[in-house]
Amino acid sequence: MIEVTNLTKQYGDHIAVNNLSFKVEKGQIYGFLGPNGAGKSTTMNIITGYLAPTDGTVTIDGKDIQKEPEAAKKLIGYLPEIPPLYTDMSVRDFLRFVAELKKVPKAERKQQVDEVMEMTQITDMQNRLIKNLSKGYRQRVGIAQAILGKPEVIILDEPSVGLDPKQIIEIRDLIRKLGEKHTVILSSHILSEVQEVCDHILIIAHGKLVASDTTENLSKLTNPNTILNLTVSGDFDAAKAVLENVAGVDSLENGGTDADGNTLIKVVSAKGVDVRDEAGFALAGARIAVRSMQIEEKSLEDIFLELTDGGEEVKKERKRLFKKKDSEEATDETADEEVNSKADADSENINGEGEER
Ligand code: ADP
Ligand code: MG
Repeated sequence: MIEVTNLTKQYGDHIAVNNLSFKVEKGQIYGFLGPNGAGKSTTMNIITGYLAPTDGTVTIDGKDIQKEPEAAKKLIGYLPEIPPLYTDMSVRDFLRFVAELKKVPKAERKQQVDEVMEMTQITDMQNRLIKNLSKGYRQRVGIAQAILGKPEVIILDEPSVGLDPKQIIEIRDLIRKLGEKHTVILSSHILSEVQEVCDHILIIAHGKLVASDTTENLSKLTNPNTILNLTVSGDFDAAKAVLENVAGVDSLENGGTDADGNTLIKVVSAKGVDVRDEAGFALAGARIAVRSMQIEEKSLEDIFLELTDGGEEVKKERKRLFKKKDSEEATDETADEEVNSKADADSENINGEGEER
């Protein structure tokens, strides 16, 4: 349906999109995932014909977005990062206006406007001025304008940014619904979001594609077994003698001793097998005290961070920002590449603002 080939976009000497190639098949929901500044918006602006690439091509259903912009654009509905809304217009007037711009035949306009309002559940708001709507409703108007004209493909750039948790859930439900009739590409810097709604995930970092697979396959990359990190009193051999006989324990690894002379042990069991209780009882029975125990998870989040080389730095920043601002927005802004590179240098300078804002 969409074919992106060797796409590159340079701003001066900064390469925002670097030789990106991928294909989007019909009828699926694709997640375009990457930290802030990764090049998501730039790519979407090129795919939708709003921005010319420095190099490379994009075809929509075989139509080149640069050579046949009108025909290609007709196949796409786009919700840019900053939705183009005329806030002094009422919802209905605005949508009627967009329908006209999109050349929806006059006889069909009213019905299509009614349909998209119904789909996005804004019918009750149709006579309100857009400027008086909440951010969540404005976003729905943005999506409604994108689906007017019944384009085959819907492209949504970070549709849930700035929404509260309830609105986020509603928008996700709406995106799933859109996925039933359209091919959807949705960008996000939040892994859980794409994981929840998308069939396929494309991960982008520094303008390059670093992973592309089904959500299911990517999820398989998570820890193949369960790892329990234990801290116990006494030495490794004594604990080992006990833990070896605990049902479910596959192997043990000596993690050395901590400052207090306690022993750190990695206990490996099969995926989903939780040996905490039995290990605790057995150790207590042998008068070995358990100082701490924690199951280690390698989540898709970790994989995402590794792939986008956020890694430890991003996690540290995440914690720091979480302390600074307690809005959930702030914690999600941290995957920013700028923040990353400055992380060591100056912790006070970090304000959690993405480059795009
Ligand atoms: P994302 O949407 O993934 O956050 P963007 O596509 O907005 O990323 O930006 C990718 C990179 O290109 C960033 O480093 C950003 O600062 C830079 N960039 C984006 N737009 C411009 C522009 N108009 N001029 C110069 N640099 C830009
Ligand atoms: Mg963006």
